[in-house]
Parts: sequence; C-alpha cells; structure tokens
Amino acid sequence: MDHSKPDIINGDQALEKLLAGNRRYIDSRQRHPNQTSRRRAEISNSQEPFAVILGCSDSRVPPEVIFDRGMGDLFIVRIAGHVMNDMILGSIEYAADHLHTPLIMVLGHSKCGCVTAAIQGVNGEGHVACLTEAIRPALLEAKDQPGDPVNNAARANANIVTEQLKRSKPVLSKLVSDGKLIVVPAFYDIDTGVVEILS
Ligand SMILES: [Zn+2]
Repeated sequence: MDHSKPDIINGDQALEKLLAGNRRYIDSRQRHPNQTSRRRAEISNSQEPFAVILGCSDSRVPPEVIFDRGMGDLFIVRIAGHVMNDMILGSIEYAADHLHTPLIMVLGHSKCGCVTAAIQGVNGEGHVACLTEAIRPALLEAKDQPGDPVNNAARANANIVTEQLKRSKPVLSKLVSDGKLIVVPAFYDIDTGVVEILS
C-alpha cells in the first residue's frame, strides 16, 4: 500500500497545495504533515515531491515551515539571493525530469541581505561578489520602480530566474511546452508570512 502517493496531477494543484499550507502557517493553524516516523518509513525507498522550491538561504525563510509541509514533499535548492547557475539547474532538472515534479517555485523574499549587498556594491576578498554579480540584472530591471529597492530587486530576480528556468534547454523548456511543468515566481514577506505569487 502506498500512503505517500500524492493526489497531485498537475502544477496548478501543486501550487494550490503550497498556498494552502502557507495560509495555515499565517493563521497558526499548522498541521505539520508528513513529519512522523511513519512518513519516514513510507518514503524510504522513493520520493515524489510535489514542488521544487528555489529559494534564498536566509534563515528566516525555511520552505517546509512557511508552507507547512514535511518530509518527501518539497525538493529544495537554497542559495543566497535565489540566484541560478548550472549546478542548481542540474538539481532542479533532476526533480522535474526524474521525479516528475510538476511545479517549480522561485521564491524571493523581503529584506534580503544578499540583494541588499548587491545594491550596496559589497565586494570584499571572499566569494560573496559571485552572488551579488548574479543579482545585477535584477537591479537594472528594478532601478526605476517606485517603492523599496531591495524588495523590488528581489521580486525582479524571482521573475528573471523564472524566465531562465522556463527557457532552459533541453530539459525544462520541453517539460513546460509539453504541459508537464509550470514555473512560478513568488515573494515571501518576512513580516507577515504571506507568500505572494508574482505575475
Ligand atoms: Zn535572501
């Protein structure tokens, strides 16, 4: 008997499942699903995550918490500034192609330190500049927008990375055009806990 088989058939339903979890989290009505030893046993030989999350490493944005999910639910890549590179793309392709995950969410967030560093032009001797450099196109995109420049750039980066993923050849673009995968940009507000879908 397979208790872990989710009743998910497409990306839209997966997205609704994520947003339902976020509403529970906002309202402090969490169910903490799939966090028991029984669940651990159910998924010991296979995984079938219903969503990929590409999000920021920021300690205030843990996907399983803000979406009220548990083990085997979310395939997560976290990197400061939710930027993209080939290794991250490879991880995402593995989930989309081999695990048949129907949804990728690119999740930016408010008050992002990495985006702030990019705006301030922080360099230094280490490798943080690699990240801030990757955010530069988002800074250009957001520079004339009214409102908070850090949050605007984080939103712009989520949109840019989403488009990169949708167009990525040969794997993801094919899954998208075949209707097997959707990629959505989103933005998490650290103060309210709300995840907003960007268009
Ligand atoms: Zn961040």
